[in-house]
Amino acid sequence: MELIDGNKIAAEIIAELKTQVAALPGRPPCLALVRVGEDPASVSYVKKKELASATIGITSRLIFPPVTITQDGLFALIDGLNADPAVDGILVQSPLPKHINETAVFRRIAAHKDVDGFHTLNLGKLAQEDETGFVACTPAGIMQLLQRSGVAVSGKHVVVLGRSLIVGKPAALLALQRRPWANATVTVCHSQTASLPALTRQADILIAAIGKAEFVTADMVKPGAVVIDVGVNRVADSTKKSGYRLTGDVHFPTVAPLCSKITPVPGGVGPMTVAMLMQNTVKARRQNA
Ligand code: NAP
Repeated sequence: MELIDGNKIAAEIIAELKTQVAALPGRPPCLALVRVGEDPASVSYVKKKELASATIGITSRLIFPPVTITQDGLFALIDGLNADPAVDGILVQSPLPKHINETAVFRRIAAHKDVDGFHTLNLGKLAQEDETGFVACTPAGIMQLLQRSGVAVSGKHVVVLGRSLIVGKPAALLALQRRPWANATVTVCHSQTASLPALTRQADILIAAIGKAEFVTADMVKPGAVVIDVGVNRVADSTKKSGYRLTGDVHFPTVAPLCSKITPVPGGVGPMTVAMLMQNTVKARRQNA
């Protein structure tokens, strides 16, 4: 069994982007990071994105409206960023407060600045295999992890657990692309799927993105499979100072010995999500120039 080191691969990509940004003509790329309120997880995610931007030479514009901002107020803020020629990419950190419609917010961001890849137009471009679109960062990161760790995807059976718009669906669409780095046969499973273990056991590459701690157990995995664990779950653990530990959607201790390759949690998919956001921002700067 070999661990796929997301921290190492993300660091390689960040270093490559730094070189690319230094060679760009004109001003550096600019990423607007919008965080509504003070949710601790969002504070930490936005901080990571700010730090990665600084490392690469991307200017970040930090906008932190209060949790009481109205939907119209947030729309007005986004409209201002859409119209600002000095801003290349806009990221609105989720989750948003309950009184704000998240999908409407993602649609409000101009598609050519939608570096998160959640806009209807960008999801459509992904389905059409149009490379001018922005691909959602976590699925894009998964494909990079596979490519850069030497996993051939073409012709393989990829089983995706989860059908969210942020991870599952775009991951399935990416693996299905008519490209040498994709060309997979894809099965997508969800909460209503019958005989789930029988399907996951057919996977050459299993992508678990359901948000259920240690859901995937050894009996659900084919020996020799590659397992990508997207889940980030907090499990109570009194031995930890924080009172919890982070775990994925895969029961790592029993599944890992079976696999040819597997991503750890943390240190697998997570760092790749930030690296792909940076890649999308550099792409936006190039395309918007
Ligand atoms: P989500 O929107 O809650 O979607 C979960 C999906 O899993 C749904 O399609 C759901 O099916 C399916 N599901 C739930 N229970 C299931 C079960 N028992 N059997 C089969 N399918 C089941 O979650 P998400 O946003 O895709 O995120 C998934 C996980 O990835 C979470 O742990 C999240 O924290 C993590 N994540 C990590 C990163 C990263 O950068 N590492 C980024 C994004 C998300 P239905 O559609 O039928 O409800």
